[in-house]
This record gives sequence, structure tokens and C-alpha cells, in this order.
Amino acid sequence: MALEFACSRVGVTDCRTVAVADTAEELLAAVAQHARDAHNVELNGTLIDYALTTVREV
Ligand SMILES: [Zn+2]
Repeated sequence: MALEFACSRVGVTDCRTVAVADTAEELLAAVAQHARDAHNVELNGTLIDYALTTVREV
């Protein structure tokens, strides 16, 4: 079982990036890195909480 985050699920409809990791910590690290690199966004607590609500188990 792994956790999957998709940018398109948080409203970034033109981004097809999907991050998959075994733990929430690893996933958040990957998402934070992607948000910084691709969207110039620094994740804060609110964004992290929101992102976690969209994470699916795959
Ligand atoms: Zn993205």
C-alpha cells in the first residue's frame, strides 16, 4: 500500500504531477519539493492539511 498525491486533485488542473510514497512524511516531502520547484509555492500548515485530505491509498 502506498500513498498518492495528485496536483490535479488540489485544483492545479494543468499539472499532471503525481507523487507516490510509502509514508505520509515521504509524500509530504516530495509534494513540498514539487510545489516549490514547479509552482513556486511554499507549503504551510493549511496547505499541508488540505493536501492530506486529497491523498489516496494506491
Ligand atoms: Zn504540480
